[in-house]
Amino acid sequence: MISVEEALEKVLSYVKVLDGIEAPILECLGQVLADDVYSSFDIPPRDNSAMDGYAVHSADVASASSSNPVYLDVVGEAKAGGTATMKVKSHTAVRIMTGAFIPDGADAVVKFEDTDETQQAGGPIKRIGILKTVEKGKNIRYAGEDIGKEQLVLKRGTILRPSEIGVLASLGIARAKVIRRPSVAILATGDELAEMGQPLTGGRIYNSNSYSAAAQVLRYGGIPRVLGIARDTREDLDAKISEALSSDMLLTTGGVSMGDYDLVKEILARRGEISFWKVRMKPGKPLAFGTIEGVPHLGLPGNPVSSMITFELFARPAILKMMGKPVTQKPTVEAISESYIKNTDGRRVFARAIVRKEGGKYYASTTGPQGSGILTSMSQANALAIVPEDIAAIKEGDIVKAIMLDGE
Ligand code: AMP
Ligand code: MG
Repeated sequence: MISVEEALEKVLSYVKVLDGIEAPILECLGQVLADDVYSSFDIPPRDNSAMDGYAVHSADVASASSSNPVYLDVVGEAKAGGTATMKVKSHTAVRIMTGAFIPDGADAVVKFEDTDETQQAGGPIKRIGILKTVEKGKNIRYAGEDIGKEQLVLKRGTILRPSEIGVLASLGIARAKVIRRPSVAILATGDELAEMGQPLTGGRIYNSNSYSAAAQVLRYGGIPRVLGIARDTREDLDAKISEALSSDMLLTTGGVSMGDYDLVKEILARRGEISFWKVRMKPGKPLAFGTIEGVPHLGLPGNPVSSMITFELFARPAILKMMGKPVTQKPTVEAISESYIKNTDGRRVFARAIVRKEGGKYYASTTGPQGSGILTSMSQANALAIVPEDIAAIKEGDIVKAIMLDGE
């Protein structure tokens, strides 16, 4: 049995960063840029006002104060989107709105609050009293101060967050080249499984693994391809696995333990290459991994909790790598355990836990019954508390490391 780290290393050694594709920018959220992005113009395109106020010559108002205002003739008005051509000659001002281009001659903007505008009666303002001095350049946003023409704006490898999507839009770039999302085929196996909508006759259970796994694929940026249920026969498994091989990765659930009908690893051995089977962890020991006709195949255990935890630990990093992202762990915290968590056979235990912060400290308590079939234990948990292989138990009051499942 290999360790969690060795297993992860093997999985990652078989998955490759995918190629780039072009897509509308909004569809690229969370994806990695495949090309450098340069600007073809200045942003902003011209000097413009950062305030609503008056564009002035700063030297004209060098003596202005509220008790001794400087009066300027108002020669026009400039609004955002307008193409004002007026000039600000000495001892004149232009009434200006945020975003409007600075008229020639002006070198600063005095905001409304520093003028006598509100004290004037309605009607167009002909003369404005300036109540405060203004430094040269004040309240002006200069051409190219955000992005200069021909500047490298976003480097390849950048993960596109909402702010980067906005930057691309500001450059007028409607489509970006990004590392494509992996298509992940998901195949449930088991004679006992029924699909939602079918009656639960003869002790059948609904196939939940396909849906929890598909949701995990979506959450980490992949495209799930839910292939339904394969029955526990060589023929059905072979046929459905063949269907999956046009995807970038195949996930099966079930059929990898010691039972008579656990055929998945046999098929992996016959049609491909087994890299490992069995990892020193609990839950999730019977995890098979290898490649079938070059496609990485993770054979997740059938138990719903084991399936989800092995996905988190092995499929998530594989998806991140295929998407060109750094393969980072989810955040972990050191918490004070409020539960007794035992480790009976020297595997690494991932206990479903609720971690809360109180008075600057983290506390972890398990969600109750920890059977690997109890899917609600995952649903209640926000963390996996880890008991290392060489520790027989985490006792109440001990420090326990916990992986925060709701983190990125
Ligand atoms: P297996 O490894 O195939 O023997 O499955 C282990 C346990 O997980 C059995 O109790 C199965 O009924 C259950 N199981 C397997 N596949 C699924 C599935 N897709 N959805 C829910 N439970 C499953
Ligand atoms: Mg089975």
